Amino acid sequence: MKDGKCGVHCLAFWLLWIGGLNWGLVGLFDWNLVETVFGGWPWLVKLVYILVGLSALLMLADKKCVKCKN
Ligand SMILES: [Zn+2]
Repeated sequence: MKDGKCGVHCLAFWLLWIGGLNWGLVGLFDWNLVETVFGGWPWLVKLVYILVGLSALLMLADKKCVKCKN
């Protein structure tokens, strides 16, 4: 994986990227990317938000990961 991160952290990185971009789009254009893509499935929209939140927590605990090689 990129930058020596394990699969979980690589996924968490992308989820944070999506979450950050989504917030930026909501703030700038009042356009919610996640709701536009997954709007037909409200539970999926919620799941994405939860996963982004969990990713943030995972990133905070980054140093404790034994799979990541720095
Ligand atoms: Zn890791």
